[in-house]
Amino acid sequence: MCGIVGILGTLKASSEIYTGLYAIQHRDQNGAGIYISNGEKGRLVKGGGLVGSLFSKKTLYELEGSSGLGHVRYPTIGGSEKVDAQPFVVYDPVEIAMVHNGNIVNYGQLKQELDIELDSKCDLELILHIFARELASEGKLDDESLFSAVGKTMDKLNGSYSVATMIPGIGMLLFRDPTALRPMIYGKRISLDGVSYAVASENIVLDILGYEILRDIRGGEAILIKEDKTVVNRQIRPEISQHCMFEWVYFARTDSTIEKTNVYEARLRLGKELAKEWEKNDLHIDVVVPVPDTARTLALSMAEHLNVPYREGLLRNRYVGRTFIMPDQTSRETAVRIKLNPIIEEVKGKSVALVDDSIVRGTTSKKLVKLLKRAGAKEIHFLSGCPPIKSPCYYGIDMPTKRELIAANCSVEKIRKTIGADSLTYQTIEGLVSGLERDKDNLCLACLNEDYPTQVREDIRKYIGECRERDRIKTT
Ligand code: SF4
Repeated sequence: MCGIVGILGTLKASSEIYTGLYAIQHRDQNGAGIYISNGEKGRLVKGGGLVGSLFSKKTLYELEGSSGLGHVRYPTIGGSEKVDAQPFVVYDPVEIAMVHNGNIVNYGQLKQELDIELDSKCDLELILHIFARELASEGKLDDESLFSAVGKTMDKLNGSYSVATMIPGIGMLLFRDPTALRPMIYGKRISLDGVSYAVASENIVLDILGYEILRDIRGGEAILIKEDKTVVNRQIRPEISQHCMFEWVYFARTDSTIEKTNVYEARLRLGKELAKEWEKNDLHIDVVVPVPDTARTLALSMAEHLNVPYREGLLRNRYVGRTFIMPDQTSRETAVRIKLNPIIEEVKGKSVALVDDSIVRGTTSKKLVKLLKRAGAKEIHFLSGCPPIKSPCYYGIDMPTKRELIAANCSVEKIRKTIGADSLTYQTIEGLVSGLERDKDNLCLACLNEDYPTQVREDIRKYIGECRERDRIKTT
């Protein structure tokens, strides 16, 4: 999963974008980039690593301009090399910079069919080239040509894409795929410096920078915010929104609000649903312990509903990244060992309900059970806030092959034995949907039930799986 930020018409866009990227660094730590436009042309700085280590004060000072784009990268196709980091820029038919969050399912097929030479393995480069070609074929640069080029680009793409585009002298063009799988929200600020607009993956960016939230960009919609601050929008293709449930379960920051559903409140409700599921077991627990940080809210709510003490039985080293998004298996395993340490006094001799947001590969769960048992826990009852993840995600979450997903290959009982827990309780799909308080048809649940919101052919599934495995081998 990636994170995007776009700003138009402020005093110093680089500072705001840098601050915004910091706010969504949780969406990944693999690479970042900033493109700044002075209204005539732009400058680009990007590379691998964390936002804080990539941009010095001097770099930000030298990125002069009132508008720009920023990105934090999570590689699903492509690796962690600088060449794959966003934004990307083309100069024909005009200068166009672009960032996105999502994943193009038919990337390999389109690359071949359209005979496009790409410098990277990042699917955003493909989107940008398609858009630039379509714009060139319009022969003009007015609003209708831009919207028409977006429509023709959408017609070619299959997958998830929340895109922000900057065209110096024209403005910022935003568009989102019809399924609206990945979040995208925009806002406006009126200050003594004038009117400015911002777009981001999560509303927290807009909140921190003092922008008033306008709304989420709709699935299939395009919005053009011009340099003169006029705003034009078009519903380019019909909206068939099916938002990714994993944003609320795991990915988004707890203080964010995605599609008008606050993440913290959703996690509290998911905790209540999980408590209901646990009660069916008729087992005893002394204490509820979360796997920090994402599962805290879930565990807190679960403990409250069960009337069992909530305890921080695992302490997280805050300087180690989220293991799930480390780019290869070696670093993931190393990171688990240095990341969490038990508080022995809180678990010794107790029956512990250990709550995590989800179980993907099961490797982390197994290590945590072992860690707490070594710390003296009498029993470990493992609970997952997400139902069993049985199928790969083709829309931007790094779990592309069935081979890696423990629930795709094992029964609940076998998973329990594999991770070494005394019992294992999963959230149900009904509990998940009820906890999110959203219509089931409005959610993507494909990694749970294989009902993909776009068509994903078997050969494409195989191709994506192979690409991802190849990239992993390279980076291991
Ligand atoms: S398949 Fe799962 S992780 Fe991927 S977009 Fe759908 S709900 Fe989200």
